[in-house]
Amino acid sequence: MTSDFDIVVIGAGVVGTAIARDLSRFKLKVALLEARPDFGDESSKGNSALMTSGIEIAPDSLEYRLVQRGYARYLEEAPALGLPMRKVGALTLAWSDEQCAILEEEFERVRALGHQDFYRLESAEIYSRWPNFGPGIRMALWAPEEGIADPFSTPYAYVLDAVTNGVEFRHSWPVQSVDRLQNGWALHSADRNVVRARLVINASGLRADIVEALAGYNDFEMRPRRGQYLVLDKAARAIHDVIAMPTPTPKGRGILISPTIFGNVIVGPTAEDVDDRDDRATTVDGIKLLKEAMATMVPGLTAIPVNTAYAGMRPATNYSDYRIIPRFDHDWLTVAGIRSTGFSGALGIAEHVIGLIVPHVFDVRPKGSLSPVSVPDLSEPSNRLLKNGERSGADPAYAEMLCHCECISVGEVRDALASPVPPQTIKGLKRRTRAMFGRCQGFYCGARVQAMFDERSKP
Ligand SMILES: Cc1cc2nc3c(=O)[nH]c(=O)nc-3n(C[C@H](O)[C@H](O)[C@H](O)COP(=O)(O)OP(=O)(O)OC[C@H]3O[C@@H](n4cnc5c(N)ncnc54)[C@H](O)[C@@H]3O)c2cc1C
Repeated sequence: MTSDFDIVVIGAGVVGTAIARDLSRFKLKVALLEARPDFGDESSKGNSALMTSGIEIAPDSLEYRLVQRGYARYLEEAPALGLPMRKVGALTLAWSDEQCAILEEEFERVRALGHQDFYRLESAEIYSRWPNFGPGIRMALWAPEEGIADPFSTPYAYVLDAVTNGVEFRHSWPVQSVDRLQNGWALHSADRNVVRARLVINASGLRADIVEALAGYNDFEMRPRRGQYLVLDKAARAIHDVIAMPTPTPKGRGILISPTIFGNVIVGPTAEDVDDRDDRATTVDGIKLLKEAMATMVPGLTAIPVNTAYAGMRPATNYSDYRIIPRFDHDWLTVAGIRSTGFSGALGIAEHVIGLIVPHVFDVRPKGSLSPVSVPDLSEPSNRLLKNGERSGADPAYAEMLCHCECISVGEVRDALASPVPPQTIKGLKRRTRAMFGRCQGFYCGARVQAMFDERSKP
């Protein structure tokens, strides 16, 4: 089967879905092609989910500009999409003379950039506000505007918005080869489907170099970087409810300890260069590093049970900045190397991409009207319980508890299965509802959630 589009976006990570959403605002025929059965199933599913304002990024980079803009747009647009964010603030900690000197310099640098909401805290103030930190902290930098958000619902909201407003989302559609046409490209999938596009946007994350090579480009190499995490039980939040990280080193930002928007606390990520971009294993050495960081920074957390461990893979390249490369003579736009800040930067990247395309490549007008969408707020189980209580009079399915750890009702799982962008896998259902994500990790509710999923999938 062959179909024709103005623009095809390859890759439905948080970046590709944000681009597709912004494209849906224009009178354009757009497709979003995703190799996997669900969106957000590669780099975008295994991150720290910090919504950063970009203060830590080199100011002369494109990344700095786009993350700042992405953060600002997120603050503005997330509420209408139902997406939660908590400004819990971030602390960068120093123990040694050397680290204090680095933070002093960092403080001057960030203030000089005009970020006034950025403070230098002495030891006494740190311990009076956060008494659970381990001993020996001499100073900290305090960025109260830094936040946490929902890593799964964010690309869900973007893709749902895009689809509701006219974008065609095709999952399980790996682009395996491409042919140059007189105007645009023909993209071929494994099962011989063909899509033609006047412009291709390569937003394929961790595999961007492979997709680039299909079209004959090889301007960068992927350098996948694994990050392992521990997820602590929700009891941890009473001990620790702020983003805390050590003084950065030339190797990176180090292991942080942060609350999640769902009420857990995460410890991570490690930073390991790996050869295999699919090697998302957690390792004995990695877990050891995470436990050591926890014991140094917030020793009380070591008594809290670990619910699970996971690893994500940063789509880094041999360049430190984003690789956004317009190749409009060849009807191709590369949006790659969105390493460590794509969750925060996605809406800034999308806006930048639209600015490159409209009106220079497509002289089109915005659509007259749009259909608004919103996704369920999965952040606080107590809010969910209240909402379910209110709805249960009209529909008892909201009163029937399915996942007791995360307080998810049968009604919510049923709604997720009926979404215009329905889950194709049980993990996709998990990410849309939080069912099976709690303390028992699906031990109690897993069979019933699977049964509901199977029932929906019956022909
Ligand atoms: C450990 C870690 C911690 C992080 N912490 C943060 C953080 O706190 N804050 C923050 O802002 N960012 C953070 N990030 C960065 C953020 O997660 C990434 O920048 C972002 O997810 C990149 O999104 P993407 O859409 O570019 O890539 P991806 O999410 O990888 O999406 C690319 C998509 O393309 C698809 N694809 C690939 N090849 C093909 C093909 N041939 N055909 C069709 N589809 C294809 C893939 O299946 C995938 O779904 C972190 C990342 C990691 C790994």
